[in-house]
Amino acid sequence: SVSIRGLARSFGERRVLNDVSLEIAQGEIVALIGPSGCGKSTLLRHIGGLDTPTAGSITIGDAPVTGLDARSAIAFQEPRLLPWRSLTRNVEVGLPRTRRAASDRERVSHLLELVKLSESAHLRPREISGGMAQRVSLARALARQPGVLLLDEPFGALDALTRLAMQDLLLELHAAEPATIVIVTHDVDEALYLADRVVLLGSSPADSADAVSSVRATVTVPGHRPRDRGSA
Ligand code: ATP
Ligand code: MG
Repeated sequence: SVSIRGLARSFGERRVLNDVSLEIAQGEIVALIGPSGCGKSTLLRHIGGLDTPTAGSITIGDAPVTGLDARSAIAFQEPRLLPWRSLTRNVEVGLPRTRRAASDRERVSHLLELVKLSESAHLRPREISGGMAQRVSLARALARQPGVLLLDEPFGALDALTRLAMQDLLLELHAAEPATIVIVTHDVDEALYLADRVVLLGSSPADSADAVSSVRATVTVPGHRPRDRGSA
């Protein structure tokens, strides 16, 4: 589980987030939506330990997030793969640096299978499509079996059909290895399709002069799993 309590973040004079509190259950998928610039990426980076709050705290399980740690992994819209390395090597990058054992190699080929890239494992990033690159990015993030998977507009740059396929793949991955997932998206349909809960981040009209964001609404999505899609 992830607990965010009274989180605030300012950049210099400018306060971006204020009093953000959110409880995310183990294995839950939460979609984070809100207007551009409201602080979605900032919040995600805090959960991943890539940024330090001005006030408040984040815990994963019982232990506070104090910096980058092995319990979470983050993936961005831009996969940033190593161009001169094979897809296998690009997934291996996600493993802890200290141990690259035989079991890790098995883990990498298992992940490549999960994201349907076994046959392409030897290719270099320049030889693959955007959707494939995003699948590599997902596999890399999953390499060390993070309890918390943080996705910042992961499918934002993909065409509509690839995006739909990626959404189903993400749900497949979640069924196979149920991590807690926080996904930032601008696509409300995507949020409703993937998430157990949709959290709206933003400022209230009253403080629009400063536009300080906190959690404005949380909606539990009923009957949203893929098995429900298309049935009755
Ligand atoms: P988008 O939907 O466009 O990705 P977002 O909701 O992810 O937007 P953030 O990237 O979290 O928004 O940025 C929120 C605000 O914080 C913006 O005004 C941004 O300029 C500011 N900000 C973010 N990171 C920094 C930083 N390192 N230094 C200064 N300001 C920052
Ligand atoms: Mg962002």
